[in-house]
Amino acid sequence: MSKVVLNNVNKIFGNGFHAVKNLNLSIDSQEFVVLVGPSGCGKTTILRMIAGLEKITEGELYIDDKLMNNIEAKDRDIAMVFQNYALYPHMSVYDNMAFGLKMRKVNKKEIYNKVTETAKSLGIDDLLTRKPHELSGGQRQRVALGRAIVRNPRIFLMDEPLSNLDAKLRVQMRAEIVKLYHKLNTTFIYVTHDQTEAMTMGTKIVVMNEGVVQQVADPQTIYDKPANVFVASTIGNPQMNFIDARVAKEEGGIYLRFGTFKVKMSADVSELLLKSGYIDKEVIMGIRPENIMLDQENKREALSLKLELMENLGSENILYFEIMDSSLVVKAEPKYRGAIGSYMNLYFDVDKIHIFDKE
Ligand code: ADP
Ligand code: MG
Repeated sequence: MSKVVLNNVNKIFGNGFHAVKNLNLSIDSQEFVVLVGPSGCGKTTILRMIAGLEKITEGELYIDDKLMNNIEAKDRDIAMVFQNYALYPHMSVYDNMAFGLKMRKVNKKEIYNKVTETAKSLGIDDLLTRKPHELSGGQRQRVALGRAIVRNPRIFLMDEPLSNLDAKLRVQMRAEIVKLYHKLNTTFIYVTHDQTEAMTMGTKIVVMNEGVVQQVADPQTIYDKPANVFVASTIGNPQMNFIDARVAKEEGGIYLRFGTFKVKMSADVSELLLKSGYIDKEVIMGIRPENIMLDQENKREALSLKLELMENLGSENILYFEIMDSSLVVKAEPKYRGAIGSYMNLYFDVDKIHIFDKE
């Protein structure tokens, strides 16, 4: 149950590699913060600095208003669950879970109670005498969680804890970790490269790229108002469509022009584009697959595009259309279908169009 503040934190490794750049992040007590970003963007390094396993090159780390930079890992009262679980292979499940408490000289009876109670809550109480190699991936994951829980830490750090599990188990453990969070009422900092985990688990999402924070916000804000193309492409499945376009002022209003097509902007967006001097500028237009509609009755002014591919998932149909040497992805209901190679009429929900600066 602790507050974490990172103040202009930088990590430069011995070889000169600048892995984390000017990180400013404030995590409230009892938040579930998810750091999300591609492999190599600095997520693990941030967790290791918070845990005290990696020295902070520059900047300050505060936990509950206390400067932690030079406090040893063992005195931070933080538990970390690693991607590979990091269980002691020669120890039983019981001893793995009890290890941290033994180190802290907790009495035997109390250790026994704590370990058995936690094992029970995780459904691994019948595995306490087994060694890690006698467990499935999912069971090992639970032991690693249990080892963290028994310590009653003030902060939980989790580094891609589900990435070694198969898809079904991953979904199940995802829900279990969120339930655990609600039960323990503790601060969670969770690292993943999986946008679904970020969206479904976090109360706050931090999107990272190349050591730099791109955006910090609650999941819905990240989804509705992505700060840039990187964030927009990280969150959302299928990914947002991006199209090079030009803002044009023409008779009848403000349009986005791309290839031989044009889309009229809403009054609000038009006003904004006018005010901010976007007329005749090249921009990147973003539109999510669910914000493109099929006009089967040909009632509107629509784009006519050629259908390349369909992926019907039963609950939804993902359609791929050819557009300017690229694909436009549309998420529709299964009833919207067409023959491959045929032309279909599409229109955009203009209120859901994102306009990004070209970098
Ligand atoms: P992530 O967890 O997001 O995949 P990491 O935090 O593990 O990324 O690594 C961030 C970057 O720092 C990577 O480019 C990685 O190669 C580099 N890195 C990590 N550890 C070291 C180290 N000890 N020495 C030099 N570079 C490192
Ligand atoms: Mg990592």
